[in-house]
Amino acid sequence: MNENNDKERLNYFIVDSTAIMHHFVLDGRLKENDFLIIPELLEIELKSFESKSVLTILEAEGKLIRATPSSESLERIIEIAKKSGDYGALSKIDTQVLALALDFSDSVIYSDDNAVQNVSAFLKIKVVSQHFSIRHKREYYWKCTVCGSKFSQESKTCIDCGSPVKRFFKRK
Ligand SMILES: [Zn+2]
Repeated sequence: MNENNDKERLNYFIVDSTAIMHHFVLDGRLKENDFLIIPELLEIELKSFESKSVLTILEAEGKLIRATPSSESLERIIEIAKKSGDYGALSKIDTQVLALALDFSDSVIYSDDNAVQNVSAFLKIKVVSQHFSIRHKREYYWKCTVCGSKFSQESKTCIDCGSPVKRFFKRK
């Protein structure tokens, strides 16, 4: 790759609402070739005037891309999240953010959400976070608070005795 190509390379950051709220954009981190991708759903769910203003600014600067993930990528994310045990902790937007990262190769996710980070780790998707980042891949399991039975699939009550279960994880 020559210098010229390198300059023209575009960088895509896929963001969730925490990134918008943390002023990722206004921190001056966006360079000339950087663009933000948001799932279309995100815009609908943004409530604060402040967050909406950030989108308006991005839009005016030509930095905002609204995208809908492919159904193949969505299915892949759901499959991985079920295996890692993150499925129940992922919001619809989280799932879309992750799926968009598969659709836009070499993109980077910006999120403080630990389920997003964990699923990303399993798929080798790059994640940047501002406040919180997990150190190890986690594989979640559920354990009954009464009889101690363990389950790899999410469930609200114990399959053996019907008591409440809690989520735990082991490092991978
Ligand atoms: Zn039990």
